[in-house]
Amino acid sequence: MSTKRKVTLIRGDGIGPELVEVVKSVVAGIGVKIDWEEVDAGEDALAKFGTPLPESVLESVRRTKVALKGPITTPIGTGFRSINVALRKELNLYACLRPCKSFKGVRSRYENIDLVIVRENTEDLYAGVEYPNNSSEAQQIISWNKGKIFPDANISIKPISKTGTRRIAKFAFEHAVKHGRKKVTAITKANIMKFTDGLFYEVCREVAKDYPSIAYDERLIDNMCMQLVMKPEDYDVLLLPNLYGDILSDLCAGLIGGLGIAPGANIGDDTVLFEAVHGSAPKYKGLNKVNPTALLLSAAMMLDYLGEKEPARKLETAIAQVIAEGKNVTYDLGGKAGTREMGQAIVAKYATVA
Ligand code: NAD
Repeated sequence: MSTKRKVTLIRGDGIGPELVEVVKSVVAGIGVKIDWEEVDAGEDALAKFGTPLPESVLESVRRTKVALKGPITTPIGTGFRSINVALRKELNLYACLRPCKSFKGVRSRYENIDLVIVRENTEDLYAGVEYPNNSSEAQQIISWNKGKIFPDANISIKPISKTGTRRIAKFAFEHAVKHGRKKVTAITKANIMKFTDGLFYEVCREVAKDYPSIAYDERLIDNMCMQLVMKPEDYDVLLLPNLYGDILSDLCAGLIGGLGIAPGANIGDDTVLFEAVHGSAPKYKGLNKVNPTALLLSAAMMLDYLGEKEPARKLETAIAQVIAEGKNVTYDLGGKAGTREMGQAIVAKYATVA
């Protein structure tokens, strides 16, 4: 790159800040110059600025159009809503792309896994349309559905639209074509949710007709969980609405040896936010213990996106070689190295990659 490319760096909370530090030093260590614009979101931002998602974070990503993000905690039940979901919605990052590939040297029951998850990122039960029981909206819905809903229920709404499904289905098929993939499998629970998940299938089938070179099939989510555990080699690109995509991402990370090595990207029409699949693992915060690979692989995806194809390829190779050797890896891969030490080993290995 002739000029330094500006990238927003969202530090996150929990294990986020220490992972982000390692990514910065690895990217510098391999000689790629990035002008990181560092911003805070999550618990640390809440403490500093009184809001977990300061407007300055959104302003920065809207301007730079590329971001790398550490994980952010979402308190269960109470507290702020998910900042991760808010970021994806605010920035219209409608496609979540999660490659899931086996690494040699990782203890796993499976070898040669090569799946790609394409998860819709803005709709479904994650749309944030929820009503507590004491709201007039919840009471209205309960009275329309007398006998079907207990009077003391809270309500979540699951919107699935033609517009949202069409753009994610197109994204999945375009990805398949560009990356030499053979098949797209759409996954829902349409036997039960006929209108919402049924519509997801209907639109996917329509879009599939425009891509005759890519095979298309459908599975129900419960069956899919079993299929992936029994014969993951039968699958290629997995296309899912938001909630199923979230859950299946962790299942697929489990197939390749855990969350420590599963990267991802949230993609919109002109903005991309790269992040690991895993969360903020608060119990490991500040211990220099967790695996930096997932965020480093996300950074490699980012370098590739920025046109730094060769450093991206070499970084992935260096990571794979360090993992295969097994000497400088973190606890989850059976080693004793700390987060920083694994990062340093990857930089040293990079220098030897052809
Ligand atoms: P988690 O992914 O944070 O951690 C679950 C377990 O996975 C950890 O206890 C650890 O054993 C392992 N793990 C995760 N990352 C690892 C790494 N880099 N190296 C080694 N092992 C690793 O899931 P959780 O505990 O369910 O969630 C914690 C918080 O993170 C929650 O508030 C959740 O909402 C949030 N979260 C955020 C994101 C995001 O920022 N995109 C994603 C998922 C969860």
